[in-house]
Amino acid sequence: MARVFNFNPGPAALPLEALERAQRELLDVGGSGMSIMEHSHRGKVYEAVHNEAIALVRQLLSVSDDYDVLLLQGGATQQFALVPMNLLDPGKSADYVITGSWSKKAFKEAQIAAEARAAANMEQDGKYRRIPAQSELSLDAQAGYVHITSNNTIAGTQWHAFPDTGNVPLVADMSSDLMWRPIDVSKFGVIYAGAQKNLGPAGITLVIVRKDLVERGRKDIPAIFQYRTHAAENSLSNTPPCFAIYMLRNVLDVVTKQGGLAAVETTNRKKAALLYSVIEERSDFYSSPVEKDSRSMMNVVFNLKTPELEAEFIAEAQKRSMMGLKGHRSVGGVRASIYNAVPAAAVEALAAFMREFKSV
Ligand code: PMP
Repeated sequence: MARVFNFNPGPAALPLEALERAQRELLDVGGSGMSIMEHSHRGKVYEAVHNEAIALVRQLLSVSDDYDVLLLQGGATQQFALVPMNLLDPGKSADYVITGSWSKKAFKEAQIAAEARAAANMEQDGKYRRIPAQSELSLDAQAGYVHITSNNTIAGTQWHAFPDTGNVPLVADMSSDLMWRPIDVSKFGVIYAGAQKNLGPAGITLVIVRKDLVERGRKDIPAIFQYRTHAAENSLSNTPPCFAIYMLRNVLDVVTKQGGLAAVETTNRKKAALLYSVIEERSDFYSSPVEKDSRSMMNVVFNLKTPELEAEFIAEAQKRSMMGLKGHRSVGGVRASIYNAVPAAAVEALAAFMREFKSV
């Protein structure tokens, strides 16, 4: 078996142990004589997996009983619509901090579903180079919520300290950085994330939502779109993506055994620091389009002098089994996505290649 160094932005690398467990259990989970995919979602075997996945989310992030943990479908993109549909009463508006393509999409979707205004727009000449300071946010004290994207997967920027929104609930799309480090969930009204970066395979969206927001949520939208429907039935209102949730359980079990989020954070910071240090060290050759204080620990984005050189770098890296380094098609360049499951050895191999590439 030849596993490559996988720097894909999402779907992304999964922990080998989580995949191997799935391989062992694929035909027969827990001596039941069936695959988890063949079990009823109302049966005991699946139910145990489902509840364990939710319990692991709660433990790893220290989620209090004031919050519901929901496992939904439709990706983070569906949450772009469900957040305003659930949280904004008629006449209410939400504030959006636009720090990248995904927050721009969330903003546009909110404008269709309800009222939304930009509390800051960091786009400059088509690029997003930094996260705004608190003083740059024009926040409406009457807003229904403030929406941020905690990590900008394409631009390679990340919020390192979350904004203070007073009594207005903070809603965060954490698709590309949830579970990379401990966070204080109590600062948020809603956290949502598509699973396919740090959490598991595509197909589930994790939503952590304050119970009072669920309770006050709108009732004049279809029941399937109401958070309360899923909260009331432990995300089993209809058939869930059982296998994806099984994988989420496997992945979070590995993270727990690795020592939890504090341990994972230390490793992640070292991985990112190594790549950024090579970019600095070889500043004649590599450059970061992102301001230092805003650099992402998950998606390290950089440029070489020309697009041709970038293409050559990516092709040479591929020959050394380093995959997924092409920047997003909208911005070009190189992007190393170094989520939890990307081992330090992969990042060390990339750093060594970056040092050496100059002379290829
Ligand atoms: N938000 C962010 C920050 C993302 O990185 C992505 C996907 N890369 C999305 C939203 C969209 O997620 P999905 O494809 O699960 O709808």
